Amino acid sequence: MKYISLLSSSYSGSTLLSILLGGQTGIIGFGDTYPHPRVKYESALCTCGSLLLRCSLYKQIEQEMKHSGISDYTWLSSQPYPFRHSPIFQIPGTPTIWYWCIKMMPRVLRKYLFRKFFRLTDTYLSVLSAASSAEYYVDGSKSLTRLELLRSHYDTIRVIHLVKDPRSFIHSCVSKYAPESHYKFLLWGWMLYNTWAHAYQRILGKDRYFFVYYHQLSRDPENVLQRILQFIGFNSAIIRSDSIDMTQQHILGNLMRLSFHGVENRPPQWREYLSAEIIQDIEKSIKTMKWLTLE
Ligand SMILES: [Zn+2]
Repeated sequence: MKYISLLSSSYSGSTLLSILLGGQTGIIGFGDTYPHPRVKYESALCTCGSLLLRCSLYKQIEQEMKHSGISDYTWLSSQPYPFRHSPIFQIPGTPTIWYWCIKMMPRVLRKYLFRKFFRLTDTYLSVLSAASSAEYYVDGSKSLTRLELLRSHYDTIRVIHLVKDPRSFIHSCVSKYAPESHYKFLLWGWMLYNTWAHAYQRILGKDRYFFVYYHQLSRDPENVLQRILQFIGFNSAIIRSDSIDMTQQHILGNLMRLSFHGVENRPPQWREYLSAEIIQDIEKSIKTMKWLTLE
């Protein structure tokens, strides 16, 4: 099974991209399924229409993981990387330190220290391919640490880096959960994440890294989807983007039956809602990211 890692900040359109990719026969993905403090999993819905915890595919995979020797596997306790539960990981800044420790670790040491994690991921992929007959898995965890570990295990891993306009990202965060006064902190996190994600163009090489802006994807999904499918080497005469059957997908918490032709063909909302000072400050701050072009 070919492994595709989707990288994007939160509220940046990764669910839309997961749906478009998972709508193709031969590609499977679940969006971001790892436990998150802002999601109530007991009442979360799967796109197939069932409660997430009652979805037949989720249950089947959980059961087959147990049969394959991962006796404690459950969706609710699964983690994108092996040390997330450790108490030291709760100290602010520690996840970043771990990421850089792994980055500096030689491949042979990673293979040894994280052998259980690699075995679990191998088992997960073989269970998925038996349950779905899919050829591609789209990992929607958006975790740089997971990618950093897995790239030493899967030589053909590919990355799709989805970037939302930072002004639009800040608007999404402040309209959904964060006070406006936190925007500098949010922007700082966004800049670090996307700078490190973009570095995989150099680390993996241009043929294993694909960069896409969210506004392009939402305005012209068909075209962008075709380019992405070409990038991953997906061969199909039928490419679906306007008639995706959501009941055949199993993505967390989204029941919209969208038509993907020009999903968001309207002026961006951040122009109306963000103050001129904040917009100016964002535009000034991101000038250091030379690879990024704003509209
Ligand atoms: Zn489902």
